Amino acid sequence: MKIAVKKFGGTSVGSPERIKNIATRLIKAKKQFPNLVIVVSAMGATTDNLVKLAFEMSPTPCPREYDALISTGENVSAALLAMALNGAGTPAISLTGLQAGIKTENIYNRAKIIKVEPSRIYDELSKGKIVIVTGFQGVNHILDVTTIGRGGSDTSAVVLASVIGASECDICTDVDGVYTTDPRLVKNARKLDEISYDEMLELASLGAKVLHPRSVECAKENNIVIHVRSSFKDSEGTRVKEDTNLESQRPVTGITLNQEQATLSILKVPDTPGVAGVIFSRLAEKNINVDMIVQSINENKMNDVTYTIDKIDLDVAKKISQTICDDLHASRIEWDDNIAKLSVVGIGMVSKPGVAAKMFQVFGDHKINIKFISTSEIKISCVINKKDAQQALQYLHDAFELDKH
Ligand code: ADP
Ligand code: ASP
Ligand code: MG
Repeated sequence: MKIAVKKFGGTSVGSPERIKNIATRLIKAKKQFPNLVIVVSAMGATTDNLVKLAFEMSPTPCPREYDALISTGENVSAALLAMALNGAGTPAISLTGLQAGIKTENIYNRAKIIKVEPSRIYDELSKGKIVIVTGFQGVNHILDVTTIGRGGSDTSAVVLASVIGASECDICTDVDGVYTTDPRLVKNARKLDEISYDEMLELASLGAKVLHPRSVECAKENNIVIHVRSSFKDSEGTRVKEDTNLESQRPVTGITLNQEQATLSILKVPDTPGVAGVIFSRLAEKNINVDMIVQSINENKMNDVTYTIDKIDLDVAKKISQTICDDLHASRIEWDDNIAKLSVVGIGMVSKPGVAAKMFQVFGDHKINIKFISTSEIKISCVINKKDAQQALQYLHDAFELDKH
């Protein structure tokens, strides 16, 4: 059975009119692809609002109930889309993560999908129905609802595509493809026809919201082409696939701006072996993802250890860091949530030196101070003051001439 998988994001299903519009487009698509599996996100800002509600009940909502709550937005949009299709005379059925057989790890808030048992999906397809699956959610071994991380519906779609043997997965969204940077922030950002898995994985992990990082990882592992395209028109978007050399002639393919991070420092930590292990294992135990780490050496065998984390984890990380600070007899902790991380990404930088120098020069020319630097083979990231971030993004985009083919 040849099955097409398409995912529609939050803005695309953001109102009853938009849902009806998607339904019309799906009725047309069914003529070309008789077996359609559709994955939907929650409508517009629904998930954000559910998160706010949770925190109104408690500053530390119970993870199980948190997932039970924030997963519900997808149930609404899936049922509404099924209603719109059925109302228009095209049989359709909505399935929750549980009904679609999506099994996850026994972790809440950021569980990974470990298995999909798609028998119900096949069953409904064989009855001629369009199957609409709620993105973002699955169930654990005791059938409690779990969620797979913000923006995770992309991953739900790619996982389903791989399980049911689709070679391509459409991610339909409110932009018509992957651009050299966020087209909402830089007017002359350029749409890419193709991008390699590795570059897209870096961009997504560094904060380009357009794809959930794990969706790219899953696509790469299972050799599925992700086609990022508009929810509103039929034009070709961007294909995320194995490297094709098309863009690697240039050192930089894309730039991301992440304003969702904060720094935390533990000052004057005694310089003894094992200290870093203590700090970062304690953070890991509480599921705090640490991104950049900088250790600067002070006088008198004392180090300042600074790390970046997601802003959403700041309160918990502050508490843990204070305890670590006390236990290690360090001086004090400091934090800053007025930062932004700019990253340039490109496979081409492996063979073309001078990218870092150019990036730093751009900051220098505009008197922008760099707080931290981190590099990998195909990316260079700098943390700067948030107030300079948007301007700096434009300066970098211009300096690397990303608007030009
Ligand atoms: P959806 O709700 O469809 O999942 P998201 O809001 O998660 O959509 O992702 C789409 C958004 O990603 C766009 O509206 C755009 O502002 C943002 N974005 C960030 N970086 C890029 C990029 N390099 N190319 C395209 N869009 C990007
Ligand atoms: N609704 C979820 C979120 O807002 C999942 C998604 O949109 O992909 O994070
Ligand atoms: Mg998204």
